[in-house]
Amino acid sequence: MIGKAIQNAINEQIKNELYSSYLYLAMAGHCTEANLPGCAHWLRAQSAEENTHGMKLYEYIHSQGGHVELQAIEKPPVKYRSLTDIFTHVLEHEKKVTAMITKLYELALKEKDYPTQILLHWFIKEQVEEEQNATEILAKLEFIGEQGPAVIMLDRELGARK
Ligand code: MG
Repeated sequence: MIGKAIQNAINEQIKNELYSSYLYLAMAGHCTEANLPGCAHWLRAQSAEENTHGMKLYEYIHSQGGHVELQAIEKPPVKYRSLTDIFTHVLEHEKKVTAMITKLYELALKEKDYPTQILLHWFIKEQVEEEQNATEILAKLEFIGEQGPAVIMLDRELGARK
């Protein structure tokens, strides 16, 4: 049986993951409207992935005989100034999520909740990848700038994401 404090914290993290999904979907919409279909594809794939993160936690609570209580999801920002603005925001957001996962892990350590610690190992590893991916895209954008044919090439590259 899952402890109350851990259950509450995981329910909160389900909301955070679903907010990430919502945020990336908003960014994808912006890219579609800005005629950047590859970037939109990448962000939609990211959005779908965040949904699976939320569902992983959702299923975990049930596997531990706990109660899922879905929380209200905040409205994501409406306007984005540029592609650099979007990916800067992605990286900042992922860093925030990493801090949330770390806090959750610290709680699982304090509560001596070993199954939750093992579950969170996956999320800790995932966050390393998420930050790395966003950092790489941002570095490319800083290198090529916002205008010119290189943006089309980056868009194509991001559009090839499986
Ligand atoms: Mg996530």
